[in-house]
Amino acid sequence: SKTPVTLLGLGAMGTALARTWLAAGHPLTVWNRTPARADALVGEGAKASGGVAEAVAASTLVVVCLLDDASVGEALVGVDLDGKDLVNLTTTTPAQARARAEWAAERGARYLDGGIMAVPPMVGVPEAGGYVFYSGAAGLFEEHRETLAVPVGTRYVGADAGHAALHDVALLSGMYGMFAGVHHAFALLRKEDIDPVGFAPLLADWLAAMAQGVHLTADQLRSGDYTKGVVSSLGMQVAGTPTFLATAEQQGVSTELLRPYFDLMARRLAEADGDEDLTGVVELLVR
Ligand code: NDP
Repeated sequence: SKTPVTLLGLGAMGTALARTWLAAGHPLTVWNRTPARADALVGEGAKASGGVAEAVAASTLVVVCLLDDASVGEALVGVDLDGKDLVNLTTTTPAQARARAEWAAERGARYLDGGIMAVPPMVGVPEAGGYVFYSGAAGLFEEHRETLAVPVGTRYVGADAGHAALHDVALLSGMYGMFAGVHHAFALLRKEDIDPVGFAPLLADWLAAMAQGVHLTADQLRSGDYTKGVVSSLGMQVAGTPTFLATAEQQGVSTELLRPYFDLMARRLAEADGDEDLTGVVELLVR
């Protein structure tokens, strides 16, 4: 028989998770602050609960997917967690995750933190490639691995409860840097007779090809040798930056996204070897 699951939080994400456990035949107890959000799921076979304490009491495995860390604290105030396996998929900082792990341990629960690398339409769709980073109690993860893998894939990244959140934020931070570049690129074309829809596949393919560079960056960071395998040196790239800034000026485009990165490149060049890769910028960022 399938492991019973209690799920706290029926927002867009919680509701998507819930449907996959129901479809897979897991007994599912749900709770949401606004009870009406449980109605449709109850129609699909979920058990509603009179309150959060009753919902938590219904299963050993308790999955939480609320707005933020503060809402988790508020929702679970005074609830008996002794002997529970608490899996918190709420997005938090690494420090909040570590504090929440201690908080759970003080209440007698095993704790696993999760960072969801998927949007609701990817949940329950294995081909979409979504997954959750997990960190914290290894025993909990091993024991409930199959149940946790029902909505999306699973990746356990270690016993430090903060590491799932850290992996999550690191991936999304990389994404925002990419979005910044994409927006600057489209801005350059804005006043010209160049169709953004025609340009998009060129940009997407270029970014996908350049993304392979993260492996070389990682190699250089691990070895500490930033001249290893360099294809385009820092010196050459800094020499090229005026072309990018002048082009932006000519196209009437602000350089406010590009310039901070170029400033870091120039600072690194001033104090390091021009034959290095761009990787030394990482050192300027770490305080
Ligand atoms: P929603 O805004 O759709 O839902 C928020 C949920 O939190 C609701 O169930 C809401 O209850 C509940 N909530 C908010 N404040 C409190 C509180 N003080 N006490 C109790 N419950 C509270 O968010 P999502 O479902 O989309 O997101 C949930 C988590 O999943 C977030 O941490 C989010 O970062 C993460 N996530 C979401 C993704 C997405 O694309 N949606 C992608 C990856 C991660 P009520 O119905 O009563 O308002």
